[in-house]
Amino acid sequence: MINQTVLDRFLRYVVIDTQSKEDSNTYPSTSKQFDLLNLLVKELKELGISNVQIDEHGYVMATLPSNLPASDKAYGRTPAVGFIAHVDTSPEVSGANVKPQVIRSYAGGDIQLPGDPSVVIRESENSALKLAKGKMIVTSDGTTLLGADDKAGCAIIMTALQHLVNNPSILHGDIKIGFTPDEEVGAGTKHFDIKKFGAQFAYTVDGDTPGELNKETFSANSCLITVHGRDIHPGSAKNIMVNSIRVVSDIIVRLPKHMAPETTEGYEPYIHPYVLEGGVGKSTVKILFRDFRTEGLDDLRTIVEKVVAEVQPMHPKAKIEVQIQESYRNMREGVERDPRVIDYLFEAARRSGLDPAWVPIRGGTDGSKLTAAGLPTPNIFTGGANYHSRTEWVSVWGMEKSVETVTNLVQVWVEKTRES
Ligand SMILES: [Zn+2]
Repeated sequence: MINQTVLDRFLRYVVIDTQSKEDSNTYPSTSKQFDLLNLLVKELKELGISNVQIDEHGYVMATLPSNLPASDKAYGRTPAVGFIAHVDTSPEVSGANVKPQVIRSYAGGDIQLPGDPSVVIRESENSALKLAKGKMIVTSDGTTLLGADDKAGCAIIMTALQHLVNNPSILHGDIKIGFTPDEEVGAGTKHFDIKKFGAQFAYTVDGDTPGELNKETFSANSCLITVHGRDIHPGSAKNIMVNSIRVVSDIIVRLPKHMAPETTEGYEPYIHPYVLEGGVGKSTVKILFRDFRTEGLDDLRTIVEKVVAEVQPMHPKAKIEVQIQESYRNMREGVERDPRVIDYLFEAARRSGLDPAWVPIRGGTDGSKLTAAGLPTPNIFTGGANYHSRTEWVSVWGMEKSVETVTNLVQVWVEKTRES
């Protein structure tokens, strides 16, 4: 099993169905995630890593111990650094019977997928395809997602470990490995034991375009609006029925359209109604609040409250409730507290021949929650694109550059520790 390329590993992992599920009452949300988690345990052991553990929640944790000699200036002082990837794939698109398509040399232009010719990866919509010209990429057959999110991360971490095990002359501190379930349903860190993990700094390998690094995510709240109406037979409804569908429609139509995911980019915030359920007697709408400034979330709340205040008098007999819950917070403050975690990552990507850039993530990562809980965890690219869709694809070159960045990164930590 040892000495496999990142592509070998990737192709083996993506055919394992690990789709997670919303509103499950088990953890992990689907037991099939254990199929890959257990395989990773087996492969970690085959790499010669001794203390591999999997707990009842499915968290796989392992350590590649430091190989620094006692004579080294960095011995005993190099922080333990962790690498984390999630095994599950998004509930949005099927991850069963994935048939990866390897394109040996991408010639440019649109890519029509063989399993469903209506599914096309368009050059005009994929700026990262430019970097992939003449290089190897992998797509699905168009009937499922690919699962590069985040099996590319799993394959990258395993291949980097293999490289370190095979090259003992590369000196490193303690390296902590974490493979986790249920990231896609927002529960990837629910039972993550930071103390047991034992890293002082960590990185998720769960980004996309080669060279892009992430230290900023949205801050996020979720908002639930519930409208209680009154249902009665339509034949005798006059002046009695209160149709909550009309009330909730009046609310949705007033949400600002210039503050929607489909009309914003970069650092712009949004208010995004994404699930609507309704009947005459009761309707609910779930809304996402997203802003890079945590204080900005209060402004979004005010906007929605004003809309509700405007709609309520139009339907005096309806009862409108607004509930807001915290989802996750921008990791920026937490990772900048000790800038080594980001500075060394940037240096490692540069040493891999890339022109790295910090890109804000218009979403959250497991790193957002880990950082908030005290483990600074920025995010590293994988080479993937178009996550959660049938047009998902990955650059094999990008995965290789990510492996290189990870192996450079553990060395940068040692070198900088020596100098300090
Ligand atoms: Zn992911």
